[in-house]
Amino acid sequence: MSYDVIVVGLGGVGSAAAAALARRGQLVLGLDQYPPAHDQGASHGETRIVRKTYFEGASYVPLLVRSYALWQELGLLTRTGGLFLGAEDSRVLAGSLATAVAHDLAHEVLDAADVTRRFPAMTPPAGTVALYEADAGVVSPEAAVRAQLDRAAVAGADLRHGEQVLGWSTTSAGVRVETSAATYEAGALVLAPGRWATSLLADLDLPLRVEPRVMHWFDPPGGAAAFAPDRFPVWIWERSDGTAPYGVPAVAGPSGGVKAAVHHSPVRPPADWSAADLGDLLAPLLPGLGSSVVRSVDCTYTLTPSEDPFVGRHPGCDRVLVACGFSGHGFKLTPVLGEVLADLVVDGSTRYDLDFLSPTRPAP
Ligand SMILES: Cc1cc2nc3c(=O)[nH]c(=O)nc-3n(C[C@H](O)[C@H](O)[C@H](O)COP(=O)(O)OP(=O)(O)OC[C@H]3O[C@@H](n4cnc5c(N)ncnc54)[C@H](O)[C@@H]3O)c2cc1C
Repeated sequence: MSYDVIVVGLGGVGSAAAAALARRGQLVLGLDQYPPAHDQGASHGETRIVRKTYFEGASYVPLLVRSYALWQELGLLTRTGGLFLGAEDSRVLAGSLATAVAHDLAHEVLDAADVTRRFPAMTPPAGTVALYEADAGVVSPEAAVRAQLDRAAVAGADLRHGEQVLGWSTTSAGVRVETSAATYEAGALVLAPGRWATSLLADLDLPLRVEPRVMHWFDPPGGAAAFAPDRFPVWIWERSDGTAPYGVPAVAGPSGGVKAAVHHSPVRPPADWSAADLGDLLAPLLPGLGSSVVRSVDCTYTLTPSEDPFVGRHPGCDRVLVACGFSGHGFKLTPVLGEVLADLVVDGSTRYDLDFLSPTRPAP
């Protein structure tokens, strides 16, 4: 059987692409080596932060604004507000503020005392400045992947899990994909293989670095009430040594507890922080968090040198689209990435400027 499009990888990005393509009338085959919403890639762990103010760069904002609207349409966003904290010249604070100003995004700037007045569980050290984004919130990655797969299936996509893609090649009419079970042909191919891009896209020799991360769910000694979503926001805190932990409120989920983790650190590999080390690191900011945890879970970042993902056409073949290297900040973008990849396959173009994400962009 021949398809219009094959989507390889049905994680955060691929599930959204399969849904968007099927909803545009494409005959889609979606392939994944694992079951839906599995925990072997990068799209598990109960929560992902969604925000529009973006220290990673103003070029993301048009994509983020559209993605935010799509999260609302999907009914999957829990709006909690978000605090992005650091010294005045830190990347997290200054970068978030620059994008908010450049794109006229609603925000407030708070000093350390304001933060504690508004969110009593949080006591930033004096001199800390915070940007508060009321629209920020969380989505569940597992629920989002399942919802996108459902939408894809309802729109007619043929979704096959437990089937590993062994290789792909181009043909005169499009592409051929060989799996552990069969060989398929299609007019186009979307490769969204997460950390496995290092093998499925080995021909591109993309500068990808796969790094472990650990998510911890803390069990605050005084209870989690002070960390409830109506009185505690999502947050990212850049410390003076550049270490950037983050966390989310105690939203309902299988783990219970208050989630926190290390996003980046120039001084020590982020996965080396034990729960107790992270509790110590966070004690000045969150004195009620404690250091005992109910659960810790491994995950992986696939990082590019600039931490901007690779999204666009495969340089060797127009009919092959590539989306990988999301560098620990891609989940919030998945709904819009689905639309963008569908536009590129069906229309041949997208209204978004994706040059900064091009797989062929010069190294930074
Ligand atoms: C701990 C952690 C916290 C994060 N926090 C945030 C956050 O707060 N906000 C945010 O926006 N982002 C966050 N991210 C980043 C975000 O979750 C990822 O960027 C996103 O999930 C990546 O999705 P993906 O589709 O590229 O990868 P994945 O979801 O891993 O999907 C790739 C899929 O491809 C399949 N696959 C690969 N190779 C093959 C093959 N050969 N055959 C068949 N199937 C194959 C895999 O099985 C997998 O299902 C975080 C990531 C981690 C790890």
